[in-house]
Amino acid sequence: MDILDKKKLDELAIFSGIPSFEEKLHVGRPNVGDRKRFLQRVEDMFDRRWFTNNGPFVQEFEQKICDYLGVKHCIVVCNATIALEIAARALDLSGEVIVPSFTFVATAHALQWQKITPVFCDVNPQTHCLDIESVRRKITPRTTGIVGVHVWGQPCEIEALTNLVREQKLKLLFDAAHAMGSAHRGQMIGNFGDAEVFSFHATKFFNSFEGGAITTNNSELASKIRLMKNFGFSGLDKVVFPGTNGKMTEVSAAMGLTSLESIDSFIEINQRNFQFYNNELKNLNGIKVFQYEKNEKRNFQYIILEVDESQTGLTRDQLVQILHSENVLARKYFYPGVHEMEPYKTDFPQSGKELPETKSLCQRVMSLPNGSSVNIESIKHICEIIRIAVKHPVEIREKLASL
Ligand SMILES: *Cc1c(COP(=O)(O)O)cnc(C)c1O
Repeated sequence: MDILDKKKLDELAIFSGIPSFEEKLHVGRPNVGDRKRFLQRVEDMFDRRWFTNNGPFVQEFEQKICDYLGVKHCIVVCNATIALEIAARALDLSGEVIVPSFTFVATAHALQWQKITPVFCDVNPQTHCLDIESVRRKITPRTTGIVGVHVWGQPCEIEALTNLVREQKLKLLFDAAHAMGSAHRGQMIGNFGDAEVFSFHATKFFNSFEGGAITTNNSELASKIRLMKNFGFSGLDKVVFPGTNGKMTEVSAAMGLTSLESIDSFIEINQRNFQFYNNELKNLNGIKVFQYEKNEKRNFQYIILEVDESQTGLTRDQLVQILHSENVLARKYFYPGVHEMEPYKTDFPQSGKELPETKSLCQRVMSLPNGSSVNIESIKHICEIIRIAVKHPVEIREKLASL
């Protein structure tokens, strides 16, 4: 080992005790648009004393999302989990619904919470999205629908799923929580299936503090969803439906409108960071940076690495541990798979056996900080830590074992 190399290795926090970053770098640190513009909107809101119940900001936000996505209907809601529940009810989903296990737990919980059984399908190891043959194998007489997840903002197999649901007379809902600003064959995500659900949670690159939206080109479905998110009120004193309270507040809509004015610059920053990470890491054996489709609009919000232990000599977990000690809070994401969480783990103890690709991905995938809170210097340094670590797996493993 040359001297410079040895010095760099010794400087790692697991040896020196001194982390590279004084402040913690998080995955999913919120992007903030024009703060003044947001505060001005809050002033307007106080002047109006209209805080919620389909206020002017909510109406404007819905219209602007429709324009941005080129979709007929947008219903904004308090968060994407409630949005998934409302959409599932509005589509009359019941019995079993097929979902990937390689997703955030809310995709499955929203169904479970509506007494619908999520049935887990496997994923394609290349795209990280659901595998259509696995979906097909999971269809039973009790199946009423499929929830496709556009993992990392990459559309899942939209045509194949659309054909499958047509053939099998099923409903098709998309969890597009990651996919604001992404497109498929030139058309924005938000236009596909029976409906699509977005999340505007603070950890997503586009946020309204908490929030979400359901989009659809089906007018009848949109009306039903509007009633459902507002207790089923169709008039001042008239209730026609057992609805819930899924309303978005004005202050969230004000934040959402402000974020929407900056969405292009958020995406540009994400893309610039992605290209930087990619260039720094692309020649590192055993570290694969998840690639986005080049010829389609993408939001580039996630920097996803796949760690191949057989080449790096380090597991994903060991690499995450090293980064954490440097104050780089990389995440194992998604980990564990939803099928490993309760109640699914107890209800379907066999499901792990049927999801080999999901299990393997859950062991090797991690995500790194992105967005406007990380700069190029930090990215260079994060990549340097990774490079040093995978160059010296033996020393690192010994040290980690002794901690
Ligand atoms: C974030 C997320 C959700 C939940 O969104 P909330 O707005 O926090 O309820 C659902 N599905 C996926 C894939 C997500 O990443």
